[in-house]
Parts: sequence; structure tokens; C-alpha cells
Amino acid sequence: MIHSDFHCHTTYADGCHTPAQMVKAALDRGLTTLGISEHAFTPPDAPDFCMAADKGGAYRAEIAALARQYAGRITLLCGVEMDVDSRDDPTLYDYVIGSVHHLTVNGRTYNVDATPQEAQACIDEGFGGDRYAYAEAYFARVADETAATGAQIVGHFDLLTKFTERGVPFDPDHPTYRKAALAALEKLAAQGQVLEINTGAMARGWRQMPYPDARWLPVWRELGGAVVLTSDAHHLDHLQYGFDVSLHLAQTNGFTTAGFTDRLGRDHRQY
Ligand SMILES: [Zn+2]
Ligand SMILES: [Zn+2]
Repeated sequence: MIHSDFHCHTTYADGCHTPAQMVKAALDRGLTTLGISEHAFTPPDAPDFCMAADKGGAYRAEIAALARQYAGRITLLCGVEMDVDSRDDPTLYDYVIGSVHHLTVNGRTYNVDATPQEAQACIDEGFGGDRYAYAEAYFARVADETAATGAQIVGHFDLLTKFTERGVPFDPDHPTYRKAALAALEKLAAQGQVLEINTGAMARGWRQMPYPDARWLPVWRELGGAVVLTSDAHHLDHLQYGFDVSLHLAQTNGFTTAGFTDRLGRDHRQY
């Protein structure tokens, strides 16, 4: 059984609830470990999708106070979700999720996570309408992201497929797509990062299945990689959303544990 969740957001960025509300919801659910992973200040995402530049200290202090308040009842970790161009110090957090949310092409930054229209605009304006060139650029950034941020966890590996069911489809078996995704997985595995099985887009109605596409899990297993189950919850009702699906995927692909080791060397694996 999984009694943890390591990816969620609060009112410090684009989440609906305060850290205290998320901790109480986690306790109600019987979680033994909760990692809150707020979006680090990232200029292209400000002010809507990330913490303000001066909020990191207050965020860390509030999580630390809650961790003390609830000690013995739940282990509370202070994580952060970072992009290459985030402006924060990863060593101030218990762990880092390295995630790509945007691409900068020809001097313009596009959010690949926001709407199907913006993703399509990036494909059209940045890549001459070639969605597989866009996929190549996305996966190259994912492969570099985690090393640049010192992340322990790879966030939503194939986020670019978020709008596959809403008019921006990708065929993961397209040779260019497959080659780019495999190259990224190989690089991430060599760096020792842990891949999320992330249900965030399911909870919000964008997708039927978690990230990553199930076809990459046996590849990741072959590469010796590990997985962690996360919800990317922006609402307290979505903590551990769809974990039955994620756990089934992990088990059927031969993963015998799920979790990761944090920056301080603490082991958070469960099954
Ligand atoms: Zn994210
Ligand atoms: Zn997130």
C-alpha cells in the first residue's frame, strides 16, 4: 500500500488550499508521509503559476512549523518543483521535482501546460507546424532539466501529451518522438533520477491515464529506473488521486517499490 504523496500545491502558488489544509486532508486519508512541492519562482510563470520571488522563505518556514506541529502523526517534507529557469536555491528544500512547463523558441516563451491553444501556437510559430520537432525540443529540455535543478524526481515526463485528447495529438510511436523520449529516459536513468507516475491531468479531466504513457514504464524498468507515485494535487480532494491505477501500472511493470531518497538521504519508498 502507498501511504504517501510527494507532489502537491498550495495557495503559495496555484493550489486551492493552504499547507495546513493539505496536511489535515492527508491525515484524514491515512497518509504517513506528505511532500508539498510548491512551484519555485519562475519568471515566465509569474504571477499565476508559481510562488512570488519573495515567498520561498515564508513557504519553507510554514512547512517547517507544520512538520513540528504534526510530528509523530505524519512526516511532512518541504519540496519544490523547479524548471531550468526557476530562481530558487534547491539546497533549501528536502527534495526537488524537475519539471518542464514551457519552451522558449525564437525569443518567445510558450507554456506547454496551460491550454491546447498555447501548445498549438508553440508548434505553429516555433516549429513551423511540426509537432514532432516540438516534441524533440521538449524532451531535450526534460533530459537537461533534472541535472540543471539537481532534482531527485522527474516531473510529469511526457507533459506535452496533456492535450492529446483535446486536439493536440502525438503518436508516441512516431520515430522522431520515440527517439527523443528514449534518449531522455536513458539520460535521466544514467543520472539516477526517479520517474513520477503522475495523475494530475487525470484529476483535472485532461487525460484518462497517468504520465508517463504506459509504454515507457517497461523501458524505464529495463534501464534500472525507479518510480514514485504522485498526484500533483492542486486541490485537497485530489491527494492520491488515481493511485490504484498508478500502483497497478507499477506492479504490472515489475517495480517492487515506489518512492525515492530525498536530498538528505532519507528513504521514502513504500509499496
Ligand atoms: Zn508541473
Ligand atoms: Zn506540480
